[in-house]
Amino acid sequence: MAKDKQFVTEITPQGEDFSRWYIDVIKKADLMDYSPVRGCIVFKPDGYEIWEHIQEEMNRRLKETGHRNAYFPLFIPESFFQKEKEHVEGFNPELPWVTEAGGDVLEERLAIRPTSETMFGHMYSKWIQSYRDLPVLINQWANVVRWEKRTLPFIRTTEFLWQEGHTAHENETEAREETMKMLDNYRDFVETFLAIPVVTGQKTPSERFAGAVDTYSIEAMMKDGRAVQAATSHYLGTKFAVAFDIQYLSRDNVLEYAHTTSWGSTTRLIGSLIMVHGDDRGLALPPKVAPTQVIMIPIGPPKTREAVIGRTDELFAELKSAGIRVRVDDRADVTPGWKFNEYEMRGVPVRLELGPRDMENGVCVLVSRVSGEKKIIQQENLVEEVKAMLEQVHQEMFERALKFREDHFYSVDTLEQMKDSMEEKRGFALAGWCGSEECETKVKEETGAGSRNIPFNPSETKETCICCGKPAQHTVVFAKAY
Ligand code: AMP
Ligand code: ZN
Repeated sequence: MAKDKQFVTEITPQGEDFSRWYIDVIKKADLMDYSPVRGCIVFKPDGYEIWEHIQEEMNRRLKETGHRNAYFPLFIPESFFQKEKEHVEGFNPELPWVTEAGGDVLEERLAIRPTSETMFGHMYSKWIQSYRDLPVLINQWANVVRWEKRTLPFIRTTEFLWQEGHTAHENETEAREETMKMLDNYRDFVETFLAIPVVTGQKTPSERFAGAVDTYSIEAMMKDGRAVQAATSHYLGTKFAVAFDIQYLSRDNVLEYAHTTSWGSTTRLIGSLIMVHGDDRGLALPPKVAPTQVIMIPIGPPKTREAVIGRTDELFAELKSAGIRVRVDDRADVTPGWKFNEYEMRGVPVRLELGPRDMENGVCVLVSRVSGEKKIIQQENLVEEVKAMLEQVHQEMFERALKFREDHFYSVDTLEQMKDSMEEKRGFALAGWCGSEECETKVKEETGAGSRNIPFNPSETKETCICCGKPAQHTVVFAKAY
């Protein structure tokens, strides 16, 4: 298949084949490449830089809320996984094992971490002795491995990059507060940084993290109507504290188990922002994570070329020193029109054009990637105008994504309507649920839609279960998911 080659000549339209579109775009924009190991991808510089901007902002926020970064080992002894029964059952099928090293068979197999509750649990039991040691608020940036059956670049890979927060608290109230605070941090981050609106809510028991008491998620709608779980936050109760003996002397001088939480977000966010914002012209990157926020393209005939480039470079320096990620493309061997298409495909949020006429008038032209709007601005206001345009592009992207989600959010009362919402109308469906796993499974089998979460703020409250007709315990968002 020609399209599997590195050089994609044309991008398949989204309406023709969304999956094909996605692969075409990420390859053509040079974000990743496949590796020889199934499900493992190379993050190329333009893909990796998006991750770096996510990290910078996430770190800023985590530090503001009192969290600190540390680094825990990649290998986890097998015995650790035996300590928490649900955890081992959930993760066992996805674990890769190291059984031999240095020419010897290891006495105890080592798992390559799929997540680090066990290792943190082990260390916390050593570090936490008294209520004075609490809370412990640690985050780590790491790679983890889960042997996934189905993979898709960024969205679901065998090895992925993430941050995982692990905290320990004196009591349930504080631990639950932390769980919700981190969930809300994810919501706010994804909305205000990635311009992706999300549905915030609680996972049903069957979708809970292995070993958690309660799992909460933010769910985003991709442009094909399918859901992506963009981040999760878990209240672990005392389950891991009991398994790893995280006990402390309380204020009343009695030994108590700590209450722990964990929460994570991954390189899946990169895939999500591509599937939410991209269009038939290619990528559209939210300005706050775009490796290049502004591309400057000098235009005009050869005789004014040198002067125009000279002025472009001056403007470039101004933008750069204002902290804007800007580049100039002054290549003479490609036409401006070709460049326009190229940077639109790469998702650069703002294009700046400067021609000889503009120079004479002291102006230049800004063009928005998402709306195509052109704005003639005074060069003397360059920095503030560019900043305003970047902010405007962010708002436009968020509003478009929100409108798309609202247009594809259905309230349903029968399985027939649910099926139609998945197949014909492609979106999320709000429905009542009695709380039985049987009904949840049946909905999935008959309509393809899984429960995404029980939203905190549903637009309406359903009275009866969509499946069995009994009184509804919850109003649930169902969708097909990646
Ligand atoms: P968990 O530790 O299972 O709660 O996972 C934390 C987050 O990681 C999930 O909410 C997903 O957004 C993301 N995630 C899970 N599996 C993968 C994967 N195979 N590749 C990329 N991201 C993933
Ligand atoms: Zn039911």
